[in-house]
Amino acid sequence: MTKFQDLSIKLKLISIQLFTTLFILVFFVSIYLFSQYHQYESRAFTRMSTLAEILGSNSISALLFFDNDAAVDVLESLETQTDVLNAVVYDHNSEVFARFDRKGHLDYSFGSVEVEDKRALDGYFLLTKQIVFDDFKVGWIALRLDSSNRQAELLEALWQSFLLFIAGLILAALLSIRAQRPISNSIGKLAETAKQIKESGDYTIRVKSNSRDEIGLLVGSFNDMIEKIRNHEQHLEQLVAERTVELEAAKTKAEESDHLKSAFLASMSHELRTPLNSIIGFTGILLQGMAGPLSDEQTKQLSMVKGSASHLLELINDILDISKIESGRIEVYDEAFKVDLLLVMAVSSLRPFAEKKGLRLRHNIETDLPKLYSDKRRLEQVLLNLINNAIKFTNEGEITINCYQKEGLLYIDVIDTGIGIGKKDLETIFETFRQIDTGLDRVKEGSGLGLAISKKLVELLRGTITVVSEPGAGSTFTVALPATLEK
Ligand code: ADP
Repeated sequence: MTKFQDLSIKLKLISIQLFTTLFILVFFVSIYLFSQYHQYESRAFTRMSTLAEILGSNSISALLFFDNDAAVDVLESLETQTDVLNAVVYDHNSEVFARFDRKGHLDYSFGSVEVEDKRALDGYFLLTKQIVFDDFKVGWIALRLDSSNRQAELLEALWQSFLLFIAGLILAALLSIRAQRPISNSIGKLAETAKQIKESGDYTIRVKSNSRDEIGLLVGSFNDMIEKIRNHEQHLEQLVAERTVELEAAKTKAEESDHLKSAFLASMSHELRTPLNSIIGFTGILLQGMAGPLSDEQTKQLSMVKGSASHLLELINDILDISKIESGRIEVYDEAFKVDLLLVMAVSSLRPFAEKKGLRLRHNIETDLPKLYSDKRRLEQVLLNLINNAIKFTNEGEITINCYQKEGLLYIDVIDTGIGIGKKDLETIFETFRQIDTGLDRVKEGSGLGLAISKKLVELLRGTITVVSEPGAGSTFTVALPATLEK
C-alpha cells in the first residue's frame, strides 16, 4: 500500500481536507445525537409535568367531595395521549382514589407515594406530583409514560445524521479538489520542470508563477538557480574547450618530441654502434697479436679498452631497444619453439660467468612441455637478462631456473641466493634507468634498463613478470606466459 508521504501533493491536500471534515462531522454529529437523546427525556418530563398539573387541578373538587367517578372521568381524558400507560390519583393519605390503565397495562403499581419524583426507567418514565389546593396537600397524582419511542427517534436522528454526513463529505471532497488546485498545480509544475531539465539537460526552461506566496518564492529561487547552473555550464564548456585545445597542442608537442627523441636515440645509437664495433674488432685484432707482439702492459690496457667498449655497446643496444619499445616500433614474431631447449642454451651460455664467481647454476625443467608459440629471440633476451642479473647480484650460493606449466600458463622462475631487494626498491626496479643505490661503490655493471626492457618485452608477449625478494634472502623473478601451443 502506498504510504501517505509517497502520495502526490494533490492527493495529500485532498486527503488532509477530507480527514479534517470527517473529524469535524463525526464530532458534531455525536454532539447532536447525544443532545437528541437527552432532549427526548426532558421534553417527556415537561409534558408529564404539565399533564399532572392539569389532571391534578381538575381532580381537586373530586378529591374534596370524595367523588371517585368524577376523578375517573378526569383521568379518562388521557385516552387521547396514546403513550400514557397509567395514571393514578391518590388521596391525601396516599390511598388510590381513581386510576386510568391503558389496555394491556392494567393495574400497574407505583408503590408508596410520599415525595414528588421523576425517574427514567427501562422502557418508561415515571412522575409523581402533589395535588395542592390553597396551600393544602389534597392528594397525589402519578403518571407512567411509554419511552420505547425514544430508540426509534434516535435511529431516525442517526439516519438523518448519516445522510447529512455523506452529503457533507461529498461537498468537502468537491470543494477540496477545487481548493487544492492552485497549490498542487504550482508545485506539480515545478516538479515537472525539474524532471524535464534533469532529463533533457536544457537549462533554458523556466517555471512560470504569478503567486507572491512561498510557492512564488520557491519558483523564483528555482529559476535563479537554473540560471546560475546554466551560466556555470556555459563557463565550464568554454573552459573545457579551451583546456582541450591546450591539451591537444601539448599532446601533439609531446608526441612530436617523443618521436624526435626516439628517432634521435635510434639514429644516434646506430651511428655509435658502427665505430664501436670497429673499436672492438680492431682491439681484438691487436690483442690477438695480428699487428705485432704486445707487451704485458699493452695487453692489459687494450683488454680494458675492449671491455669498456663492449660495455658501451651493451648500453647502446639497451637504449636502442627501449627507444624502439617506447616509440612502438618494436614488433614480435611468433613462432613455435621448444622452450626447454632455449633455456638449456641460455643457461649454458652464462654458466662460465657463474662458475667464475664460484656459483652453481642449475635448472629444473618439467618434462613433456609443449612447444611454445611466441617470439623466441625476445624471450631469450629476457631470460639472459634475468640470469645475468642473478649472477651479477649473487656472491655465493646458487642460481636455479625452474620451468613448469600451471593452469594454462608457462612459468619460468629465476631464483638466486644473492643480495636481495628491499621493499621500497621492489616498486621501482622495473622502471627505466633504475639502479638500486646500495651505498657501496657501484661495482656491478649495467644501464638500469635491463628489467624495464624485460618487462615491456614480456608484456608484448602477452605475459607478466613479477619478483619476490628480501634483502639478504635472495630474489625470485617469475615470467608467466600464456602456454599457447603450436598452431
Ligand atoms: P642493471 O642493468 O643495473 O642490472 P636492471 O634493470 O637489470 O638494470 O636492474 C635494475 C636494478 O635492479 C639493478 O641495478 C639491481 O639493483 C636490481 N636487481 C636486478 N636483479 C636483481 C637480483 N637478481 N638481485 C638483486 N638485485 C637485482
